[in-house]
Amino acid sequence: MKNKCDVLVAGGGIAGSLVSYLLASKGFDVITVEQKHKDDTMKVCGDAIGKHHFYRIGIPHPSGKELVGVFKGVKVVAPNEKDEIIVGGEGYALNRPIFVKRLQKMAMDAGANLLDRHAVLRPITDGTWLKGLQIVDLRTKERKEIEATVTIDATGVSAAVRNKLPVEWFVSEKVPPEDYDVCYREIIETDREIEVGYAVIYLSTIIAPGGYWWWFPKNESVANVGLGVKGGEKSPNPKRNYDKYLRPRIGGVQRVIHAGGGICPTRRTISCMVWNGFVAIGDAACTSNPIHGGGMGPAMLSAKAAAQAIEEALSQDNPSIEGLWSYHNEYMELYGAKQAGLDVLRMYLQLMSDEELNFVFEKRVITSSDVGEIGYKGNVDSALVSKVSSAIRLLSRPSLLARLKKVKDYMDKARELYYSYPKSPSDFRIWKAQVDSLFKEYRAWLLGS
Ligand SMILES: Cc1cc2nc3c(=O)[nH]c(=O)nc-3n(C[C@H](O)[C@H](O)[C@H](O)COP(=O)(O)OP(=O)(O)OC[C@H]3O[C@@H](n4cnc5c(N)ncnc54)[C@H](O)[C@@H]3O)c2cc1C
Repeated sequence: MKNKCDVLVAGGGIAGSLVSYLLASKGFDVITVEQKHKDDTMKVCGDAIGKHHFYRIGIPHPSGKELVGVFKGVKVVAPNEKDEIIVGGEGYALNRPIFVKRLQKMAMDAGANLLDRHAVLRPITDGTWLKGLQIVDLRTKERKEIEATVTIDATGVSAAVRNKLPVEWFVSEKVPPEDYDVCYREIIETDREIEVGYAVIYLSTIIAPGGYWWWFPKNESVANVGLGVKGGEKSPNPKRNYDKYLRPRIGGVQRVIHAGGGICPTRRTISCMVWNGFVAIGDAACTSNPIHGGGMGPAMLSAKAAAQAIEEALSQDNPSIEGLWSYHNEYMELYGAKQAGLDVLRMYLQLMSDEELNFVFEKRVITSSDVGEIGYKGNVDSALVSKVSSAIRLLSRPSLLARLKKVKDYMDKARELYYSYPKSPSDFRIWKAQVDSLFKEYRAWLLGS
């Protein structure tokens, strides 16, 4: 086995396989380390992804066995379960394991070397540089060291490399548990006919506090159903809520095809995603959408942006933090700035009561185009703020809704800050202080007022 390469990718999931493919295609010597067997590509997921991601990433759309169903859009259902908003925009229900296998195959066909059943143990550092990884062969228990010019953390939510880097490296930023959703989901086969066509998201602070529960049909008899709750000390066990609230209402289950739990980042990306000889992508860098947790698309966008920056850095023989820095600017343009705005909105929505949510749906305060605008651009339109301001006059008591105008202002500020992400690491500390101050002020206002 080789013990040196240009690029060492920790994690052969969605982000890791795509970045391995992109860099191996450019002629770099890539090794991908994946803890699972190459035939085991299952990960607990809702398996739904917007079609637009495939256009942006530039890989073939799913087809054949990989494509289980097509959604016309998403239905968002109010806690009263009477009112709903339909948001257009086609999406795919994937057979995710087959999709990941496709990405892994693309990487290997391009020349990447996949070491399956190998787990990352620890980073190998030299001063302020990451030089490679110590890994273990899970079949033989043999430990090995691999040296690399650039190491990528694509190990998902565990961030198995990033979390073990020295605390003084900006990139090792710790993420609080409240910034994750804790989930449980089952893929079930039922003898009742399932209405296909829409991915359905149900809002309910009782069933899924701080998150939502979902019903994503795969075909007329199979659905992916689950729930996510805001993480942290007070968070309920999502499996318990599934058993209590969802299992009794899903009739005719013949077979549970797969069941399991998982964790999903629901926040802005970590502030710094590179270091000397190091890059973090996908869930390891918290790239998922803060509102709905959809992370496959952003993980691939981050892989694409990272591959571009790494290619430039290696071609200029400069894998330093400065050489890799442009990854940030590219990713913030692609998704990160929108994500920062949505993170502001997420914190606000997590405080809303079912009553307030029902009001918004019942009175048709928010329309599908408003939701589309928020979803695609990460922007709350001023017209929506005006509509909400008029509507809340009908309410007899104070409501969080009255604060939407200010939430919008904070969203705009957060987005702007991320769009103006520093062009070099020397300006990072000042920028980070501005971000921290904005979010601190926002949190204090949101929780205090
Ligand atoms: C319940 C749930 C439902 C979701 N539903 C959706 C959805 O419907 N649509 C959507 O777009 N997103 C969804 N997501 C989010 C999505 O699954 C993730 O954002 C996405 O998988 C991130 O891709 P990734 O490549 O960064 O990480 P992963 O897909 O998690 O890949 C990480 C890889 O690294 C490997 N690894 C981890 N640690 C090590 C180690 N120490 N050594 C070696 N290898 C290691 C893992 O085995 C894995 O293969 C959901 C998440 C959850 C938890």
